Amino acid sequence: MLGRLRMPSEEEKLKLLIEDAERFHGHLGPFLVIGIRMGRLAEKILFVEGKKNIKLQVYAKLPLLTPFSCILDGIQTTTKCTVGNQKLKVENSQKEITAHFILQKPDKSLKVTVNQKMIEELTEKISKGFSNEELAWETAHMPENRLFIIEKQ
Ligand SMILES: [Zn+2]
Repeated sequence: MLGRLRMPSEEEKLKLLIEDAERFHGHLGPFLVIGIRMGRLAEKILFVEGKKNIKLQVYAKLPLLTPFSCILDGIQTTTKCTVGNQKLKVENSQKEITAHFILQKPDKSLKVTVNQKMIEELTEKISKGFSNEELAWETAHMPENRLFIIEKQ
């Protein structure tokens, strides 16, 4: 009963988002978590949480093959900007992984680029046979500044 009015911690919120995304995506992995954390950053930096009728547009650029493309489902479940509702536009890239979040009224934008070193570390661990789930939770707890380059505009 006492816990009812307590605000969920960032850790708890992230856990719920991860469970949501896993249900949607079909499995859990580090790149799905990267997408979730990108979407979560946009939510924290660009708009007040829980606010309705947000005009957000996302432009994602990444290699369009798994596991990298798993990021898209993380972005879609957290921001509700999807390929289907045309609020998410996707472009293929060779290596770069970037999501550009553009909010209207008030006009604000955020560009999140995944640190190339992290991508290399993760792909190396996957090829060495580390479990996707283990890497997913490791990625969930990684400090933002190790994982991303964040540019606010
Ligand atoms: Zn996946």
